[in-house]
Amino acid sequence: MQLISGTAIAAQVIDECKRHIASLIAQGARPGLAVVLVGDDPASRSYVRSKERTCRELGMHSIKHELPAATTQDELLAVVRALNADPSIHGILVQSPPPSHIDEAAVVRAIDPAKDVDGFHPVNVAKLALEDPSGFVPCTPLGCQRLLLAAEVETAGAEVVVVGRSMIVGKPMALLLMARGKGGDATVTVAHSRTRDLVQVCQRADILIAAIGRAEFIRAEHVKEGAVVIDVGINRVDAPGTEKGYKLTGDVLFEEVAPKCRAITPVPGGVGPMTIAMLMQNTIKACHQINRLT
Ligand code: NAP
Repeated sequence: MQLISGTAIAAQVIDECKRHIASLIAQGARPGLAVVLVGDDPASRSYVRSKERTCRELGMHSIKHELPAATTQDELLAVVRALNADPSIHGILVQSPPPSHIDEAAVVRAIDPAKDVDGFHPVNVAKLALEDPSGFVPCTPLGCQRLLLAAEVETAGAEVVVVGRSMIVGKPMALLLMARGKGGDATVTVAHSRTRDLVQVCQRADILIAAIGRAEFIRAEHVKEGAVVIDVGINRVDAPGTEKGYKLTGDVLFEEVAPKCRAITPVPGGVGPMTIAMLMQNTIKACHQINRLT
């Protein structure tokens, strides 16, 4: 069984990013990322902090807007519009989830698609479906595809089952893997909570991608002998007696599933580190495209 280390592969992506940034700076362009956080959700704060830290490590320009939970939709849209117009910013990310009075879809639509490094704007969703390489692909599925490529897992002709159909993970994952070319050309099935006989559907998979949001949901019975399993899940479960009082687990019951696998990602240290690395890669791409550099 091969353990696919997202930590190690993300470090390679970050190294590539460093080289690209050096070459961009030599051409007079420093990639800039703006992260907007509304409210004080602790998990969101921690994600934003690590994004900022990675930007700093890479020598990128970074701005953080921390807005109070009572920020109105109009105030948030005004911040987004200002960032759209700021030439030092190439990537804009509004941390999800915002407070419930905010219309998140409207905020995403207000972001200039050329700066939408999360890949959630309808223009970028369409570009992914159209296989237009100028678009931005959501960071988590892009990171999963990179893990498969780095682990030399052949996707062409493979039976892939993606469990989960969210716009953040499941749907873009399916589109990426069915697209023509390297890291794609797979035969993709998307399963969800209404899927009949999920165990049987999952057993077909040469590559099983779990993006469900339920701790340790995928068990040995779901997995074919010799399959590759990518665990996207990040779930906090109670762990009394530990310092934090909780631990992070994936959507896959690792101990049970790993012995059946050809390769599997751990949680933590699998998909998680890839998401930030791909965000940096998307921001560099945005800087290239906005400045029309080669
Ligand atoms: P989500 O929006 O809640 O979507 C979950 C999907 O799983 C839905 O499509 C849902 O089906 C499906 N599902 C739920 N229960 C199911 C069941 N019993 N059988 C089959 N399908 C079921 O979640 P998400 O945003 O895609 O995130 C999924 C997981 O990935 C979460 O653990 C999240 O924390 C994690 N995540 C990790 C990263 C990272 O950086 N590693 C990034 C994003 C998300 P329906 O559509 O029918 O409801």
